[in-house]
Amino acid sequence: MPAPMTDLPASPVTATIDLDAPGVGHGFLRLPYSRDDSAWGSVMIPLTVVRGGPGPVALLTGGNHGDEYEGPIALLDLARTLDPAAVRGAVIIVPMLNHPAVRAGTRTSPIDRGNLNRSFPGNPAGSVTEKIADYVTRTLLPRADLVLDFHSGGRTLDFLPFCATHILPDKAQEARAVAAVTAFGAPFSMTMLEIDAVGMFDTTAEAAGKTFVTTELGGGGTARAATVTIARRGVQNLLRHAGILDGEPQATETRWLDMPSADCFTFAEEAGILEPLVDLGGPVQAGAAVARIHPLGRTGVPPAEVRARMDGLLVARHFPGLVQPGDCVAVVAVG
Ligand code: CA
Repeated sequence: MPAPMTDLPASPVTATIDLDAPGVGHGFLRLPYSRDDSAWGSVMIPLTVVRGGPGPVALLTGGNHGDEYEGPIALLDLARTLDPAAVRGAVIIVPMLNHPAVRAGTRTSPIDRGNLNRSFPGNPAGSVTEKIADYVTRTLLPRADLVLDFHSGGRTLDFLPFCATHILPDKAQEARAVAAVTAFGAPFSMTMLEIDAVGMFDTTAEAAGKTFVTTELGGGGTARAATVTIARRGVQNLLRHAGILDGEPQATETRWLDMPSADCFTFAEEAGILEPLVDLGGPVQAGAAVARIHPLGRTGVPPAEVRARMDGLLVARHFPGLVQPGDCVAVVAVG
């Protein structure tokens, strides 16, 4: 268990701009990182705050995983263009939250191999990645009413584009999140089951009572024109929904999907060459093969079959052509 927050030392991170000043500030979260090539060096995480009059505060983050690109692209655009005169309340924008990972194009940080979305609530005396998480938890999150944390599949997964929330014990909080997901207006909307929720930003933000939404907008370690368009439109829609920007969210059709149990996930038990039998959005039947894994070692051996464990449609798949035992091969959702 982490120590109570009051017992924690101060964060070593400093913002180079005033987080609470009116107008537009472009700066950095500066995190001291002493190393061979820079004795008193720092990690510099780009940050923009756009603050208008009184009103709600949105915290918008991308690059929590460093190989997911729709969020950083949409948020870099927003940070450059958002007019404080049009903002009621404030928008705190961190387009590349795990900045060392984004620079490296990898899911985790090259400094400490830290997976930021498994490092929350963080530790001010921990690794670089844990220090980033702690600053978000104790300094950014308390300022926010609404949080949008962009994700995509990264190098190893590809997703049907959706905006998501979780089933929450507080049904009023859950309803606020469902309304925010609906306003975002992705082609698909998901009540999402996490297989590994410990240490996630999601869990920390939800435990703090925030309206928290996330996305999975594609993947494969790149961005697509269509998924970047969904990200840009979604963030504008969300700010309108929150009353931070004027106007109504642009009406978009969304189809709600649900991940009801751990049976949504199927994992490889062999290594080999992955042959998808169903593409994203395609129908899946319980017990039917969704992929085959061809052996790398020899001819004359049949491929292993990967079978779905429930009926639904394919919402995510392993992306690279080769798989290892334990890789998530397919994710099925219903709705
Ligand atoms: Ca991710």
